[in-house]
Amino acid sequence: MTPFRMEVLGVFKSFENAIDLSQLEQQLVDFDRITLYRTLKTFQEKGLIHEIVMTGEIKKYALCEDGCGDADHQHQHNHLHFYCKGCQEIYCIDLKEYPEIRLPKFQIDNIELQAEGLCDKCSNC
Ligand SMILES: [Zn+2]
Ligand SMILES: [Zn+2]
Ligand SMILES: [Zn+2]
Repeated sequence: MTPFRMEVLGVFKSFENAIDLSQLEQQLVDFDRITLYRTLKTFQEKGLIHEIVMTGEIKKYALCEDGCGDADHQHQHNHLHFYCKGCQEIYCIDLKEYPEIRLPKFQIDNIELQAEGLCDKCSNC
């Protein structure tokens, strides 16, 4: 872990939900883009963060849970991504019962569950 990587990780920890690149850049004092992109890539490979792409254009990053990545670089997420159309936040939501989907003839490595609507805060105002 370089000091820069610690700093980037710290930014992720200071946000409650997923953040996009510009939010991340605003929090960093001094950085160069290439290093930042590389850091994000490394973090994804190490299972520290994951990338979320929703509605085809919104791309954010969120911290992973423990047990992601490591040996096989596989992300194991039993959670759903919820995009709020009001505040435009993306929430990682843990599901108690993660649906088990089996497809004959296909080997599934990864399933991503996505939902969109309004979050609690936005639907109450
Ligand atoms: Zn992960
Ligand atoms: Zn909202
Ligand atoms: Zn997530």
